[in-house]
Amino acid sequence: MIGMQQYCVECGGLMIYDISSKHYSCKNCGLYITKEQLMDLKDKIKKEGEERKKKRREVSEYLEWWLSKKTR
Ligand SMILES: [Zn+2]
Repeated sequence: MIGMQQYCVECGGLMIYDISSKHYSCKNCGLYITKEQLMDLKDKIKKEGEERKKKRREVSEYLEWWLSKKTR
């Protein structure tokens, strides 16, 4: 089925959906997971990315504060 292709969360390779087994399989690294597992993983990766972004912002705010304190 066209439009069911996804990109691998592990390697970014093309994943092919197998309707009979209801699993995605990665052509590149061989990752073999269900649609639900794939969605969970994507969600997790997205959340981790947001956490990292949040942390980075906190660090830069701290640095700005620290630097402004130093120059005074
Ligand atoms: Zn892969």
